[in-house]
Amino acid sequence: MTQRSPNDHDIDHINHGGGVPTKDRTLDLTTHPFAHPAADSDKFHEECGVFGIFGSSDAAAHTVLGLHALQHRGQEAAGIVTHDSRQFYSHHSLGHVGDNFNSEAVISRLPGDVALGHNRYATTGDTVLRNVQPLFAELETGGFAIGHNGNLTNAGTLRSELVKRGCIFQSTMDTEVIIHLIATSSYHDLIDRIIDALKSVVGAYSLVAMTEDQLIGVRDPMGVRPLLLGQLDGAPILTSESCALDIIGAELVREVAPGEMIIYSRDGIESLMPFPPAKSRPCIFEYVYFSRPDSIAQGRSIYSVRKAIGAALAKESAVPADVVIPVPDSGTPAALGYAEEAGVPFELGIIRNHYVGRTFIEPSQNIRNFGVKLKHNANRAEIEGRRVVLVDDSIVRGTTSKKIVQMVRDAGATEVHMRIASPPTANPCYYGVDTPSREELMAANMDVATMARQIGVNSLAFISIDGLYQAVGGIARNNEQPQYCDACFSEEYPVSLVDLAQGRSPAQLSLLTEHG
Ligand code: SF4
Repeated sequence: MTQRSPNDHDIDHINHGGGVPTKDRTLDLTTHPFAHPAADSDKFHEECGVFGIFGSSDAAAHTVLGLHALQHRGQEAAGIVTHDSRQFYSHHSLGHVGDNFNSEAVISRLPGDVALGHNRYATTGDTVLRNVQPLFAELETGGFAIGHNGNLTNAGTLRSELVKRGCIFQSTMDTEVIIHLIATSSYHDLIDRIIDALKSVVGAYSLVAMTEDQLIGVRDPMGVRPLLLGQLDGAPILTSESCALDIIGAELVREVAPGEMIIYSRDGIESLMPFPPAKSRPCIFEYVYFSRPDSIAQGRSIYSVRKAIGAALAKESAVPADVVIPVPDSGTPAALGYAEEAGVPFELGIIRNHYVGRTFIEPSQNIRNFGVKLKHNANRAEIEGRRVVLVDDSIVRGTTSKKIVQMVRDAGATEVHMRIASPPTANPCYYGVDTPSREELMAANMDVATMARQIGVNSLAFISIDGLYQAVGGIARNNEQPQYCDACFSEEYPVSLVDLAQGRSPAQLSLLTEHG
């Protein structure tokens, strides 16, 4: 069997756009896909999206479309591995799916009826091509590709042990730790090796792997990161979100259960529960922000949950006002729910420029306020002379909120009140979400009254943790056994932070830096 390594990819496939902005230019026009627009840098970022399909004659094309629908989960890089009963094929690129998997020529180089794709937003490892998933390895059992969404909280510890045992790491991703654990397992059968490897792992992960004749999905025992089953004309699909099924006309079958391993092969489907049972703790922030509003989670539309969160927010902290305005786009469903519940008109008082992610001006010190204005502009006609309630999903550093409030005041608002559809995010996430350090999180360093003064609003209120739980799951938080992971609000981390407890950086495996 022959295969192409993901790392020996043709340089023509690397899309660097206009290059990294340099500091010495006052105004730097760039199309660099990894530099974040100023407004986005003030959000938590989901790390990755995965999509796999088995037994489809258009496996690569369906995977491209699936990854396109999952683009919001990772914009830095994408990769697809396929197998056509003779050999593996791969294409990995930095940048957006639509910019790199957009031609018949690329799709035709990914033949076969099994495909695995991955979108990356890195928290572990730098963005270089060899850090782009799916990773591929030639194991004793044959070719093996793997992509995962999440983070291993003991990756540093495991990596040190593996290096001592002679393992040579090619990337800085914790995904490679899983590959080495599988490769060095003493079990003979691949599935046994994967189970053996994952029993050493502590973390929050959803992974999808493929061999020449299998597609394998595993969700961590607490189900922190999402993974769903779908099917298209009998071809099974594993995906991070249901919106990736809609785009290809596939149907949602069910969620992969926490701790479940699903194996698709030519012989059929096998479902295993190989780990000790654990109380499920799916990430509650998926409902607040990460997932697309048209996705379904635990049988409920994310959009309707966000509206319910907005309604709960209004019940808890409505304020006399003339207009409710969402901070686009992620604050929109909650703002609709708030406006309906409060009986206040809803208007689009801030207009978002959707093209800023591809071409934007990197602000220098001299013109740093351009950043937010490039992405958002106040719709003065809906603001002037009115008492405004701004609704957003979260406040992370607070820098964008401050600029948006000033923009609304400049447009003539007589009062600006801010309502937030999540509790204060005072703690970093170590489970596969890109978050600033605790020092940078506004809510970790000041109380709500101080935050309100800092942001410049007349009043500021966050939904309570019980209000959020009620809106998402219909019942208040069970403080003995919480139904969700809410550690970024509560500081109660359900999956132990092994590396952190040992003084290791939980988010970075090495200091390796490389460009290209
Ligand atoms: S810490 Fe927050 S963002 Fe991270 S998994 Fe838990 S709820 Fe989600």
